[in-house]
Amino acid sequence: MPAKFIIVTGGVLSGLGKGIAAASIGHLLSSKLKIIPIKCDGYLNVDPGTMNPYEHGEVFVLDDGGEVDMDFGHYERFLDVTCKSKWNLTMGKVFDMVRQKERKGDYLGKTVQYIPHVTDIIKNHILEIALEESADLVIIEIGGTVGDIENELFLEAMRQMKEDAGRENTAYVHLTYVPIPYGVNEQKSKPTQQSVNLLKQRGIFPDIIIGRCSEFLKKDVKTKISNFCDVESDAVITGLDVDDIYEIPFIFEEEGLPDILHKNLNIYSPPDMRKWKQLINNLRNPQKEITVAMCGKYTKLEDSYASIIESFNHCSAHLRCKINLKWVETTDLGDTSFLDDVDGVVVPGGFGSRGTEGKIEIIRAARERDIPFLGLCLGLHMAVIEFARNVCHLEGANSTEMDSDTPHPVIDILPEQKDIKEKGGTMRLGAYPAVLKKGSVLHSLYKTDEASERHRHRYEVNPEYHRIITENGMVFSGISPDGRLVEFIELPDHKYFVATQAHPELKSRMESPAPLFYGFINACLD
Ligand code: GLN
Repeated sequence: MPAKFIIVTGGVLSGLGKGIAAASIGHLLSSKLKIIPIKCDGYLNVDPGTMNPYEHGEVFVLDDGGEVDMDFGHYERFLDVTCKSKWNLTMGKVFDMVRQKERKGDYLGKTVQYIPHVTDIIKNHILEIALEESADLVIIEIGGTVGDIENELFLEAMRQMKEDAGRENTAYVHLTYVPIPYGVNEQKSKPTQQSVNLLKQRGIFPDIIIGRCSEFLKKDVKTKISNFCDVESDAVITGLDVDDIYEIPFIFEEEGLPDILHKNLNIYSPPDMRKWKQLINNLRNPQKEITVAMCGKYTKLEDSYASIIESFNHCSAHLRCKINLKWVETTDLGDTSFLDDVDGVVVPGGFGSRGTEGKIEIIRAARERDIPFLGLCLGLHMAVIEFARNVCHLEGANSTEMDSDTPHPVIDILPEQKDIKEKGGTMRLGAYPAVLKKGSVLHSLYKTDEASERHRHRYEVNPEYHRIITENGMVFSGISPDGRLVEFIELPDHKYFVATQAHPELKSRMESPAPLFYGFINACLD
């Protein structure tokens, strides 16, 4: 059977949650179908790996080492798939492919043009993935908002897709915004009408419209949108504002989205939402409450830590506790008195020296005061530096990332990184296994002898300092199979003091929270 395609576009505003909408549609259909998510981003970077988190939110890392859009986090969590780097198509990648083909002579004698050459590259890439993965359904999310110059070529390619994939195999979903202006107190459909007009000018006629709104869309508003936009009124769906994103599939189900998709694409895959229902119910009815300090430097934009926040949600659902996050901007840190009001401390990943001394001070206090601590990547570096300075008495110990002249480079650049000049896609990226030490906290959490987590870094614990650090009591509880790289550390005789070189938050799922987060929250609850 040929693959079916659902193409998700957005209008009116950015940030309406297209990725979550696409992932939720997938979740509703995932019980019987093999679903592959694809995201098209209009920017000219090859991937988001070189962008500041403030520009683009979290950089999500895949098993295969791909640095991709943060929407892949939603896809993996909602669809329970392991995504591939190839499924994130940026205009930077597209132009790279066109240029390579042109230089090879594939277009010999021709003028290379946006249509058909660029649009063909886009379509072929998508069709190739569908074939390679034997997909039943491909959900393609087009980044940005209709009317943006950047996504025009993707939209044109998607217009053409209905011919290539077959009209009966293609459905267009458009996400818009239905405001209720203050004082008017009425759901307004005009922005949706205008946005759909923009889409129609590009030859795309939506089959389903999702209107993001703070209330369920009223019947008359659905009828109006249906009349003006040429969709059936059943096919106008509310995208309700919700407190947690895991509720969206339930809203879509209630609004009849699976039936409409069945009608459009002839795909029947009744959703089995029982397990999620139970977990979401736990999330909504916590029995305990704790506060965790997140000590980072991108704390002004929660999107920079999206997967960490989701990992906490997963723990909340399993442990029936509300987790309040206290955002601590370590750059501004003067004292550690805030620790009196928190149950645990997380130091997440990061780059560069800004805020690192503040983090080291916080970790020292957490260690000395027996406050649960979880360190992620840079968080592990900071914990090792703190231990080296204050327990091993290695004065001035640091990472060469922060101080190239440190007398004790306890954290140093990976040897294979030393000669790398190019910045894009050259870190130690993707999934790597670690051998776990029997009897450690880590081993009891993973319940296996080997664990695989995803990485994104250039620096490591310097092997020259392994001996002095372990002799002073820090346990290297997970190491690379060749014994060279320290992937996990912990301190015995502490309530919970665990850090990892990896980013376990990237693999946490609603059904199976990341073990390190689960152990941490359990310790905070103690
Ligand atoms: N900046 C550190 C490194 O490159 C840590 C990276 C991270 O936290 N992801 O090794």
